[in-house]
Amino acid sequence: MKEQLALLRELQEIDLRLDEITSEKDEIVDRLKENTAFLDKLVEDLNTQKEELEEIKSLQSRKRDDLQEAKTQLSERQKRLRDVTSAKEYSAVEREVESFKKSTEQIEEELLRLLEVVESTEESIREKEDKIVQLREGIATDEAEAEEQLSALDERITAFVNRQEEARGEVSKRVLHKYDFIRSRRPGFAIVAAKEGHCEGCFMALPPQQFIEIQRGESLETCPSCNRILYFWEDALGEGAPKVDLEES
Ligand SMILES: [Zn+2]
Repeated sequence: MKEQLALLRELQEIDLRLDEITSEKDEIVDRLKENTAFLDKLVEDLNTQKEELEEIKSLQSRKRDDLQEAKTQLSERQKRLRDVTSAKEYSAVEREVESFKKSTEQIEEELLRLLEVVESTEESIREKEDKIVQLREGIATDEAEAEEQLSALDERITAFVNRQEEARGEVSKRVLHKYDFIRSRRPGFAIVAAKEGHCEGCFMALPPQQFIEIQRGESLETCPSCNRILYFWEDALGEGAPKVDLEES
């Protein structure tokens, strides 16, 4: 069993490195996705703002028509004022003149306010457009870099998968099955040291009899609290650095 456990530790080294490379890859992919999502959101905001601007401009144009109409009415009333004869009619037309003057002023004020809104909206649209251009450039650079990184990581994954297959071929089916089961439940370490009477995976104390069994190394022992496979820590002394050359490829 001690030999099986040593082989399993080798396999675990490879698997842990594979996990690391895979999560490195996932991080890159996630970052690219985030960048793209941010850009999409900005483009969406820009389009909404452009639609708003169109609405404001069409309101502006309707207000201009209203102003024109009010001015026409006003000058028509002013002309009529010169022709009226009765005092009663005069004061009626005069009230109309006042009312059209008022609405003319009111529309002019509204137009002024709308002009401010149009200008600030246009400014904000220009800023967003600039930002989008910059972001697109940044994303393109980032994607080119990421592509290189990803293909380098893929190469390493392929190399490690080959080593993984080799290592798996050397471990007995029963031990491998247990190991795979533990890793399917919980990522990370599936085989850990038992040292000074406790499990190095969860640091719980092991039953003294089990600790003796582990030292003997004749049976497959798992931690009663975290379920990881256990080996006697001294058996791995000298293994120190992983046997597989993990930094290469
Ligand atoms: Zn444990």
